[in-house]
Amino acid sequence: MAIDQETVFREHPCFGACKNRKGRIHLPVAPGCNIECRFCDRRINEDAQVPGNTSKVIKPEEACGYIRKALEFVPDLTTVGIAGPGDTLATPFALDTFRLVKKEFPNLIRCMSTNGLLLNDKADEVIDVGIDTLTVTVNAVDPEIEAMINARIFYHGKTYTGVEAAEILIHNQLEGIRKVAKSGTLVKVNTVLCPGINDNHIEDVAATVREAGAIIYNIIPLIPQNGFKDLPAPTPKGLAIAQEQAGVFINVFKHCAHCRADAVGVPGVYDVGSQIYMDRIRVK
Ligand code: SF4
Ligand code: SF4
Repeated sequence: MAIDQETVFREHPCFGACKNRKGRIHLPVAPGCNIECRFCDRRINEDAQVPGNTSKVIKPEEACGYIRKALEFVPDLTTVGIAGPGDTLATPFALDTFRLVKKEFPNLIRCMSTNGLLLNDKADEVIDVGIDTLTVTVNAVDPEIEAMINARIFYHGKTYTGVEAAEILIHNQLEGIRKVAKSGTLVKVNTVLCPGINDNHIEDVAATVREAGAIIYNIIPLIPQNGFKDLPAPTPKGLAIAQEQAGVFINVFKHCAHCRADAVGVPGVYDVGSQIYMDRIRVK
């Protein structure tokens, strides 16, 4: 059973009233990915404030130990999230971890992020595990645009590229969102705003994901790196325009902290993730 949405809105550090000062721990248990976003640059390090970066990857059976440790340092920890460093559904580790976490910490909100490639296939499992808040990254709903952002997908043992890959990805994202949202799970969508690529497409994405059942929308400014290193980062004005356009269709969330895959603490306030995962903090 999932935690009710009223509690999630009140207690989750990202969905609750802005600056509710609640904490979350990200468990970096999901190493692999099944798509290739051109801007992605996953790395093992201890300090870069970039999504997909982590100080280490841990095993599902280690997760509860790290949560116990985090509870000593983050007094108002309400949420356990898994956001990488790869995709949470590309390997079984994230769902296995949530099953273990639910047994020992049933009252902590379970928050998961995915690229959605396998969400249509695994929606029943996601619902059954009791994910309370699911974030799906949907960068485009037009396959021609998605093909400019994502180079290829690895799906059911085959590699697809270009528009064909984009069509499969978008179909699975939207059908997956539909199934999970219908079960009552709170679904948020993230879009990475890539100037010159999808910045004129935000209204279509927002309207389409809202129709599919998402209720919160978060626009993440591109960090120009890897294949997109020569693209400009969105300006504050460009981001504000995109948020305003999306806001016509869906509730827009504006305080994303670009969290690392091993973030532990209060988003935007403090982070002790690297210290906890690198065992620099001793617990009584
Ligand atoms: Fe969940 Fe994203 Fe907030 Fe982490 S940053 S707790 S994955 S919504
Ligand atoms: Fe990187 Fe996430 Fe895209 Fe996978 S889905 S390639 S981990 S940004």
